[in-house]
Amino acid sequence: MKNIIIFGAPGSGKGTYSDEIVKKYGMGHISTGDVLRAQIKAGTELGMTAKGYIDNGQLLPDSLMIDILADTYDNMPAGQGVIFDGFPRTIAQAEALKKMLAERKHDMGIMIELVVDEETLLARLLNRAIEQGRADDNEETIKKRFAVYHEQTSPLADWFEKEGMRNTVDWAENPSKEQMLAKVYDIIDKAN
Ligand code: ATP
Ligand code: MG
Repeated sequence: MKNIIIFGAPGSGKGTYSDEIVKKYGMGHISTGDVLRAQIKAGTELGMTAKGYIDNGQLLPDSLMIDILADTYDNMPAGQGVIFDGFPRTIAQAEALKKMLAERKHDMGIMIELVVDEETLLARLLNRAIEQGRADDNEETIKKRFAVYHEQTSPLADWFEKEGMRNTVDWAENPSKEQMLAKVYDIIDKAN
C-alpha cells in the first residue's frame, strides 16, 4: 500500500476516516495528536511541553515534531504503508517528511484533503467536547486552532498540489460519512 497523508482542518474527520482505512486496508496509522495526548497522559516531560501548546491551540515547534514523527515512523511495521494523520501541518514539516522518506527510499504516496465548512467543523468539535472531553475542544481554543490552520497549515494544500499528490474530498458534495468514505476508498484504490 502507498503511504497516505490525510489532511484537513480540526474536526474534518482525519482520525475517523483513518480508523476506517486501517480496518479496510490494514495500514499503519500515525496520529501525531494521539502520540502527544499519550505523552500527556503518561506525564512525561514531552507531554508537559505538549500540553502548553495544545491547550493554547498552538502548534508544537517543527523541530520537535519532526523528531517525534521520524521516531514513530521508524517503529512502524515495514512494508504495509502508513497513514499520516495530523502531520505535516507546516511547509517545514512537509519538506522534512519528504526528505525523511527519500532517505529511506520510501515514497510519499498520496495526499487526501478533507474539505468541510467551518460551521460544521465547530459543531462537530463542540459535540466531541461532550463525548470525549478533550481539553482543546472548547470554543475559545477551537477558534485559535482554526486561525492556526488557516495561517500555517492550509497553504500546504498548494505544496501538495505542486508535488502532484493532492486529492480533495468535499463534504459539500458528499454530505455523509459513508459518501465521504466511498470517495476516499476510490482515491486509494486508484493509487494502488
Ligand atoms: P482532529 O483530530 O479533529 O482533526 P486536530 O487536527 O485539531 O483535530 P490533533 O491532530 O489531534 O487535532 O492535534 C491536536 C493538537 O496537537 C494540535 O492542535 C497541536 O497543538 C498538536 N499537534 C498535533 N500534530 C502536530 C504537528 N504536526 N505539528 C505541531 N503540532 C501538532
Ligand atoms: Mg485527530
